[in-house]
Order: sequence, then C-alpha cells, then structure tokens
Amino acid sequence: MDDSRVIPGDPAAPRPAASGCHGGRETLLEAARVAGKGEGLAKLLADYPKGPHDQPQSMCPAFGSLRVGLRMRRVATILSGSACCVYGLTFTSHFYGARRSVGYVPFNSESLVRGQLFEDIRDAVFKIAKPEDYDAVVVINLCVPTASGVPLELLPKQIEGVRIIGIDVPGFGVPTHAEAKDVLAGAMLRYARLEAEAGPVQRPRNPGGEEPKVSLIGELFPADPVGVSQLLAPMGLGLAPQVPTREWRDLYGALDCVVAAAVHPFYTASVREFAAAGRPVVGSGPVGLEATLAWLDSIGQAAVVPAAKIDAAKAHAQKTIGAVLAACPIKSRISLSGYEGSELLVARLLIEAGAEVPYVGTACPKTPWNETDRAWLEARGTHVQFRASLEQDVAAMLDIRPDLAVGTTPLVQKAKEMGIPGLYYTNMVSARPLLGAAGAGSLAGIVANQTRGAERFRTMVSFFEGVGKGPTAGYGFAGVPKEPPGARDRYRKILAAKRKAEAPTGEV
Ligand code: SF4
Repeated sequence: MDDSRVIPGDPAAPRPAASGCHGGRETLLEAARVAGKGEGLAKLLADYPKGPHDQPQSMCPAFGSLRVGLRMRRVATILSGSACCVYGLTFTSHFYGARRSVGYVPFNSESLVRGQLFEDIRDAVFKIAKPEDYDAVVVINLCVPTASGVPLELLPKQIEGVRIIGIDVPGFGVPTHAEAKDVLAGAMLRYARLEAEAGPVQRPRNPGGEEPKVSLIGELFPADPVGVSQLLAPMGLGLAPQVPTREWRDLYGALDCVVAAAVHPFYTASVREFAAAGRPVVGSGPVGLEATLAWLDSIGQAAVVPAAKIDAAKAHAQKTIGAVLAACPIKSRISLSGYEGSELLVARLLIEAGAEVPYVGTACPKTPWNETDRAWLEARGTHVQFRASLEQDVAAMLDIRPDLAVGTTPLVQKAKEMGIPGLYYTNMVSARPLLGAAGAGSLAGIVANQTRGAERFRTMVSFFEGVGKGPTAGYGFAGVPKEPPGARDRYRKILAAKRKAEAPTGEV
C-alpha cells in the first residue's frame, strides 16, 4: 500500500461502513462533516433542500447521476460504494438498457479507514482514462465513501486530455434521483464552461444552422425537441444540444445558447452554470396552450426577438395546439404524483385538456423555475405538494377517489387494491411526447384506455373479496396462509414496550 496519501479529516471519525439508506441520516451527515466533506455537503443541501422525507422513498438517488453518465458517448462511469448499493444500481441501469459496463472499485473496512480506497480509485482512473477510448471518466462516491470523506476532489483533473469528474452523490445529501442527474450535469457543464473560457473547444457533432439557439434542460421524450423546434422556428430560433447531453462536445453547444429553458425545474447546479456563462434562464415549459404561449413570450423576450416574430410564433402555436386540445378532450378526475420533476407540467396539460386534477404531488422541490406552474395550478384549485411523501400522495388519492390515480409503484398498487385504475407516472410520460402539439394529443388516449378499465377493477375486487390480504395473502398447498397464533399480540406488546422505553420521562 502507498501510504503517501491519506484521506483528510479526523482518522478517529466515525466510519459508517455498515450504514446506508437505513443507517440514519444525521449519523452519516455528521460522519461526512468530520471526514472533511462539510463544504460539499452544504452545497448539496443548499441546491437540493429537504423535507418532509429526508431519506429516499424511491430508488437510490445516485441512479440519476449514473444514468446521465451511462447515456453519454465516450464517457466511462465508476462507482465507489458498498457492494449492495452497486449491485442495485447496476441492476437498475441494465434494466433500463444501459448496454454499457459500470466500473466498480470495491473496498472493505480496512481499505476504507486507511485511505487505500482512494488509492484504488486513483489507480482505476489511470487505467481507464485512455484518450482513444474516452473523453471523460466519471467517478461517483455513494453513501459510505462520502460519509468517510473519500476525497474525489484530489483526483487529477485530466489524464492525457481525458477529463476526470469526481462527484459525491449520497442518499443523505441528494433527495431524489432526478436531482442527482443535475449533480453530474452541473459538474460537467462547469468543467466545459471553464474549458470554453480558456480557449477554443470542439464544435458539437450536429451543430445545426447559424440561428441563435435555445438550450432545453431536462431529459425529454425524443420527439419533444422536434416539436419545440417547430414552435421556435417562427421566432428564428433553433435548438442547442439538450442538457443532460449525450456527448461531451455537446456541452459547449448547450452553453453556446442565447437562452436556457429549465423545462425540468430542479436542475439547480446546471442553471447556475448557464447563469455563470451569462445566459438568461426561463422556467415552465411549452405544454398545452396557455403555458406554451407564456413560454414563447418569455423565450422571445429573453432572446431579444422582435415582438412581431413572437406574435407569429404564438399564432402558430395557438392554431396547432388549440386544434389538438379541442380534438382530444379528457373528462376524468385524476390524482397525479411522481418523482420525475415534470409533474406540474403534466397536470397543466391534463387540466387544459379538460381533466379535473385536485392534487399534484412531486418529490422534487419548489424552485423559481416551477413557480408560474404552481401559481397557475393553485389558481385552478389544485393542491400542489412539493417534496411530497408517499404517505401524502396516498392520503390525497384516498381523499379524492379519482377515476385514475397516476403515481409511483406503491401508490398504484394501493389504488388497484381499492379498485381504482392506476397508472405508473414514469410509464405515462416516458413513452409519449409531452411538449408542443404532439404532447397536447398524447395523454387523452392513455387516460381513456385506463379509465375504461374501472368496471373490470371493481369486478376483480369483488371477485377476490374474502381472500387473504396483507400477511395472509396468497395460496399455499395447505390453503390460505394462517397467521401464527398470538403473533399479533406479541408484536403489539413489543411495540408498546419500545414506545414506552423511547418516551421522554413522565410521558406514557
Ligand atoms: S448509495 Fe443509494 S442504495 Fe446505497 S446506501 Fe446510499 S441511498 Fe442507499
């Protein structure tokens, strides 16, 4: 072992090698602070404010960063974290069709505490950073290495021209996988911005025409940018590469815009880089008619487009989107929740198409970029819940009794148990356009299909009435499973004793 490098921070600091999502956020935060990660954590906590749920209620947040790296050409991604976390992350990435290897630097308690893990990461980075293969190598610290202060900032900034990007993406510092996409996208934009400021850089592979460009921020359905470029054309504007980009050189093209559009409103670090590059940033997005007209106004003004051209773009949008909305009405009561960050935009589109949407829950935070959408929805009687917990989403669904519950897996499961048609949010938005004229017509069909099944759900619920539920669900060879006699009583007593032991003195 080369002992010339040691990890910074107090060697006697708590090393939460056995902790993870369930290890206690405060313990991990404190460990990370003591281990020298205080400044980085403070930045994460400022960019991605918490509450009401502090721990992930969905997949591991680091998946967002992993996915952004894996979707880029000539970019290698290496994870540093507990084997169980890495197993889950690689499984998920291949489930979503990564078709790319995920690098992993394993560790044990000794290599973590003695600083060997950092040396091993460094060796791995030197081995993989070959300019003929890669433009950049991304290293992601998961919970335990972050809490232990593994100093990725001490990695070389580049090796033979291959950029090295080290980021901390702990579950106790980044609340959702959506925001974790921004951690990597923001770090890459920053690197690229500094490169562009220092001298000439590569052009994007498909630079497009010479017209001024708009950068869209957020992962979108592939047809969406096409629809948006049609909306922008009457103003003489084109589209720059979208962020997160699919290739390193696209980062320069994205920064070389006249205005950035934070269509997904949680890209705080990326927005900071556009602002540092002197680019104005516009919130909301071109969904439905009202939001599209307002968005075209904001984009046109930020890009200093003459009023006549803005009016021409709005007239074109009015004609195309208005016709589609009128042809595809939605007459349903819908509860909507998700963790993708586009929930408010989807709710606006549903309402404009005629749906009643009394509740929208998003796991993402309130930001300046979703403020107009929040105000628009609340003015129409929709309750908007930022940083919504699963419990809040379920309570809203029970209260509303919608024709269709759109949400995360556990919410949809609960809805179906009750005979309410349910649809996974991600399935609804990931397979169809949302923006422009194509988006205006895309949701009506799926809502109609799902709500048509309501009677079938009710029949199934009544058919299975009386069959075991919860701990007695399913059939075994010996019939419906039976509860072990006395188990509930024993468990109730254990919980009561635990509550009593934890209650402050004097309370029962
Ligand atoms: S890295 Fe992800 S899976 Fe692992 S402990 Fe942290 S939040 Fe949980």
